[in-house]
Amino acid sequence: MPVTVLVGCQWGDEGKGKAVDLLSERMDWVARYGGGHNAGHTVFLGREKFVLHLIPCGILQKRPRCVIGHGTVIDPLYLQQEMNLLTQRGVNLNGRLYISDCAHLVLPYHRWLETLEGQDTRIGTTRRGIGPAYQDKAGRCGLRVRDLLDAGALRVHLEDQAARLEGRYRAAGQDPPEPLGLAIEGWTRACAEAAEVMRPFVTDTVDLLHRALQAGQRILCEGAQGTFLDLDLGTYPYVTSSSTIAAGAATGLGLPPSALRTVVGVCKAYTTRVGEGPFPTELAGEEAESLRARGGEYGATTGRPRRVGWLDLVQLRQAVRINGITGIFLTKMDVLTGIAKIRVATAYVTPDGAADRPPPDAPRLALCRPEYEDLPGWEESLRSTRRWIDLPEAVQAYVRRIEEVAGCRVQAISVGSPRTAVVPVPAPDRRG
Ligand code: GDP
Repeated sequence: MPVTVLVGCQWGDEGKGKAVDLLSERMDWVARYGGGHNAGHTVFLGREKFVLHLIPCGILQKRPRCVIGHGTVIDPLYLQQEMNLLTQRGVNLNGRLYISDCAHLVLPYHRWLETLEGQDTRIGTTRRGIGPAYQDKAGRCGLRVRDLLDAGALRVHLEDQAARLEGRYRAAGQDPPEPLGLAIEGWTRACAEAAEVMRPFVTDTVDLLHRALQAGQRILCEGAQGTFLDLDLGTYPYVTSSSTIAAGAATGLGLPPSALRTVVGVCKAYTTRVGEGPFPTELAGEEAESLRARGGEYGATTGRPRRVGWLDLVQLRQAVRINGITGIFLTKMDVLTGIAKIRVATAYVTPDGAADRPPPDAPRLALCRPEYEDLPGWEESLRSTRRWIDLPEAVQAYVRRIEEVAGCRVQAISVGSPRTAVVPVPAPDRRG
């Protein structure tokens, strides 16, 4: 059975939580392949709100079993909390959650290092230690989940960190936030406790997923963040530390690339960005305030106001190409109700002439100016619409233009937070 991958097409916060929740209903497995608890996915079940940062959103459906793959980085203290919270809210994890024994750990000193190095202010990170944990992984000095389960190895590793941290703080002319001896004692105790909570769930998830593949089961790979935060293909250096694109599902879960056949790209009907970095279609002033307020654009993880702007089809077209997107899940369409004239960027003007795709780095993207096309807006609320034929003509035209420029069909439109607020989009020849 081919594997489905779900990716964000923009800079994250596209509404992937809801899309994963909907697709999960039909899946046997849902697996996270990258990132850490810097990602935040929001799902509404009735009036109940769940914000998951590490455990796949599929856990909120009855059927699928969920995997946290080795491409992620796991903060054991945080994961323990998320597991406890879900259990307290009646979500059963036993026999449903599997944690890779090879995922690298985010340990408390990674948070310290992130602040010490100024990554948080320079890049606008979430201050959760994700970047330094991936740095240790690439530097081959990280600790993995399997090491966490060995109390002796954990203690030795944490004690080794004392010397490293002492050197780093001394070189920066600063004192650590806590005396190191005390901190290491506390971390060792807390990590050992988290290890016991995690132990029954830890396994070789590569083998698990390959058995599932062989048995013809359906697997959904849940991407975190968005295409343009990808370490390699995003707007470097304003990117995250992992592979967020569809190909990341192969490396982050150990699945063969040939198995990744369906790629769902989640794209907001406009654009948002958190943190630093160029954003060609960004709005300012009252227009920005108004769109931010309508869309509730404040970070699920940090509460920070998101930067907002028009839909950038140059970016979306590139996301379609890089990820091999087979269908777009367009979210937050309801938010555009009441805007008289809606703009979409269809090309960039650059110092070297017109461009139909974004340059791969931040300095060059900063020089791009969008070329806009104006489309008529609509006044009708979309929140209770459930059929394509009931959508206002202007909404249908907006969707068609997206498909033409991005080169990919839109397969569903989300028109509100609830699970049920979705309009399936028929194939172009069946739209009537
Ligand atoms: P993710 O990081 O891509 O998973 O994005 P989030 O899970 O943080 O989703 C962003 C927010 O948008 C959440 O509060 C969702 O409930 C909400 N949301 C998702 N789809 C829609 C939609 O179609 N309309 C509206 N108004 N809100 C939505």
